[in-house]
Amino acid sequence: MRVFTGIAASPGIVVGRLKVVDRKRLSVSEYSVSPDCVPAEIARLKCAIAATRVSLESLKADLEETTGDEHLFIIDTHLLILADERLFVETASIIETGLINAEGALSRTLQKYRSTFAAIEDAYLRERINDVETVIEKILRTMTGETHEIIVPDEGLTVVAAHDLTPADILQMDRTQIIGLVTEIGGRTSHASILARAFQLPTVAGVEGITSLALDGAPVIVDGLNGSVIVNPDRATFLLSLQRKRRYEFIEFELLKLRDLPAQTLDGFLMQLKGNVELPEEGASVLSHGGVGVGLYRTEMLFMNRPEMPGEEEQFRAYASMQQAVAPHPLTIRTLDAGGDKLLEGVYHQAEQNPALGMRAIRLSLSMRDEFKKQLRAILRVSALGRVRVMFPMISGLDELRRAKALLVECKSELSSAGIPFDGRIQVGIMIEIPSAVMMADLLAPEADFFSIGTNDLIQYTLAIDRSNEHLSEFFQPLHPAVLRSLRRVVEVAHAAGIDACICGEMAGDPLYLPLLLGLGFDELSMGSASIPRVKQILRRCTREQAAVIAGTCATFTTAAEVESYLKSEITSHFAESFD
Ligand code: PEP
Ligand code: MG
Repeated sequence: MRVFTGIAASPGIVVGRLKVVDRKRLSVSEYSVSPDCVPAEIARLKCAIAATRVSLESLKADLEETTGDEHLFIIDTHLLILADERLFVETASIIETGLINAEGALSRTLQKYRSTFAAIEDAYLRERINDVETVIEKILRTMTGETHEIIVPDEGLTVVAAHDLTPADILQMDRTQIIGLVTEIGGRTSHASILARAFQLPTVAGVEGITSLALDGAPVIVDGLNGSVIVNPDRATFLLSLQRKRRYEFIEFELLKLRDLPAQTLDGFLMQLKGNVELPEEGASVLSHGGVGVGLYRTEMLFMNRPEMPGEEEQFRAYASMQQAVAPHPLTIRTLDAGGDKLLEGVYHQAEQNPALGMRAIRLSLSMRDEFKKQLRAILRVSALGRVRVMFPMISGLDELRRAKALLVECKSELSSAGIPFDGRIQVGIMIEIPSAVMMADLLAPEADFFSIGTNDLIQYTLAIDRSNEHLSEFFQPLHPAVLRSLRRVVEVAHAAGIDACICGEMAGDPLYLPLLLGLGFDELSMGSASIPRVKQILRRCTREQAAVIAGTCATFTTAAEVESYLKSEITSHFAESFD
């Protein structure tokens, strides 16, 4: 028996036989060419890009027929990358100046993209390099004549282990026979993991070296809950895993029954449980998990991987389709939250020593007034279609809020003059995620319609801990007394001003924190859709009074560790079978 540990990328436990797929990166040789050969190499590059486009378009057409169009946006993303002129122009210039073959030049372009993406702070955006790699690899395969085969299952239930899997691999798989996935690279937010979760394929990512160990055909257990992969399990381990599997499936089945039940405490308080979304397909998933709307739509995705920002029309279409997906529930659209070093190279492209403290979010939007107004107009126009709220990220004080609101007013009057409809009373909220906003909350509240706490950043800035530095994760403490005091202050101030207090950071989706957040008095919690049922279950077992006592007790502790052990003991004694 061998036990491997990786990242739990898609939940669930499956037992099958391992099929090792050779999906290592292509090895491409680079060689010199004479100046006479340069035009021919550039022509080869051009043809390969065109041929790749044709093959992606035909894959898209096939998938439309077989799978429906729910996940086609991934192929569309790849087509967009392919359509980006820079890929061709930069590679052609490497051929010309470096006098090397087209494959070698394309590999160098990929290297350059890899280092650009590696410097991106946001893990989600950083992992989008996977899409660029997939596309470039396809072009390289076209040039070298190596084909990318569809992964077929072996006889019986198959777990595929590969160095890496592309979204196209997963879309094309026979998912009745392929029941789990293991990859050597990738993380929770890579497109492949997002799809694996959408298709409920238990997945463990980041299992280094598993494909080189001659384990093809071996019995395997993939545990997408704790991130373990057990090859050739002994009998005791096998039985234990089966037990875990049954328990997990039973709990999930039971939890889904809660979908249509209200997120209501035993004493009748109705909490707004909503979903966080970034990608088009996530709107539907919020509702299927029982969410009553979207508390955070991160609009950044629409702005990335492109030389120019999307125009008002394109933004309107994207926001409108999200609005339709979640209607009749409300949609909260957050304006662009980009860092100075990422995404918007056409607009703001300066290296910064401290990007987390640099030109980001509302600061950046306010610095590019015209672009910001396009986004605000698009959001306003969508507000005519249904219940839409707008939310500004990283507000540090009144000046920023007033300037952002003034632009919104300007956009409203432009739309009015043009006779374009919008909701004149659209709610305007702000994210509380900078300690200065906590301190200023009493002055901000009268000028905002709601507060939504971004705990991810609030913890980062309160404790001075880089949220994406895995070596510091033990210091990233949501239950630190300073964080808890900030949460309490924000709710109290919001309620004194008669506005809602929401949380849309990761803290909202952890069932362990639910009694505390309920007891502090939050009105709305927004989280990844998959977390909604578990949080709802705990909520339905609490009274608000009991939760207030728990929150009060939490405030008496002096360290995060004490609060955590207290919360764990409360949860296991009152809500035991729903928490592991
Ligand atoms: C947060 O900071 O908690 C948040 C919700 O925003 P983001 O994670 O997008 O920075
Ligand atoms: Mg944030």
